[in-house]
Amino acid sequence: MNEFGLIGAYFARPARKALLGVGDDCALLASPPAGEVLAVSVDMLVEGRHFFADVDPRALGHKALAVNLSDLAAMGARPAWFTLALALPRVDEDWLAAFSSGLFALADAAGIELVGGDTTRGPLTVSIQVAGHVPADGALRRAGARAGDDVWVSGHLGAAAMAVRHRCGDIVLDDDVLAHCAGRLDWPVPRMLLGERLRAHASAALDVSDGLVGDLTHICTQSGLGADLEWARIPVDPVLRRCGEVERRQAALSGGDDYELCFTARPGERQAIEALSQLLALPLTRIGVMRSGDGVAVRDTDGCRLETGRSFDHFSSP
Ligand code: ADP
Ligand code: MG
Repeated sequence: MNEFGLIGAYFARPARKALLGVGDDCALLASPPAGEVLAVSVDMLVEGRHFFADVDPRALGHKALAVNLSDLAAMGARPAWFTLALALPRVDEDWLAAFSSGLFALADAAGIELVGGDTTRGPLTVSIQVAGHVPADGALRRAGARAGDDVWVSGHLGAAAMAVRHRCGDIVLDDDVLAHCAGRLDWPVPRMLLGERLRAHASAALDVSDGLVGDLTHICTQSGLGADLEWARIPVDPVLRRCGEVERRQAALSGGDDYELCFTARPGERQAIEALSQLLALPLTRIGVMRSGDGVAVRDTDGCRLETGRSFDHFSSP
């Protein structure tokens, strides 16, 4: 199978929303609806760095798109289209069929369309660029938090980081715990409905990909503020109950790959956000407050500052 056969078999699907999709030199895309702008993001997943060589290809197809949809959600944008750049060491049709089925299952669920890409031989790398639509003044920026805003986070934190540690041979999880943690790591659920709804309530938002404390630090820096978090309020994944306190704390505060949304909102929004949590059947937990100053401090019930560990960084982490 050659390059064009491969694209035709696994990635060319008839365009539904695009004016012209896969198959020409460029895709042709209509402008966003009046009053809206394009939100654009790209993410790259590299074998050995972001996933293990023996990863389930269906999960990889899902995750490569999910992490990008998570960026759109964090901006409050509605998914529109995406492109896919793929480097493959060899043509493995079973692998490609599984990868594209994971990719398109999520794409269809999210209402986003693949409009083009590039395919080459090389070390396994998947890079997806997404675009969404968002009202021109409505996007959720990191710079929008104000002193006195509550800090919130969706879902539960820490499970994905525990699966990474298990797979690295760092710790050994019980089978049932591992199954849950691996599910969170390999099949992240982008919080798209939440992101769109938060445009009406949040002052700033981002997705938690590198660890809560490190990611919230970006909101702090860009908003010119600091944040105080209460450890007792952090929604640590319940399956981590059996793990040690230090491990739980490290996973929930500085472990990555959760793809939950962390956002800030005025205290007057509490009722609306709690109602949204009910509506979406998704926990939304108030974990702290924005204040003047800088940096993120996490405190225990006695008000003592806890050591939070370092967030993931591609150039300074091992
Ligand atoms: P070009 O030489 O103009 O870069 P290519 O030969 O690389 O075009 O690709 C042919 C067509 O297939 C283009 O429309 C391109 O967008 C599309 N394409 C290539 N690889 C992929 C892929 N992995 N997924 C989706 N579309 C792809
Ligand atoms: Mg090309």
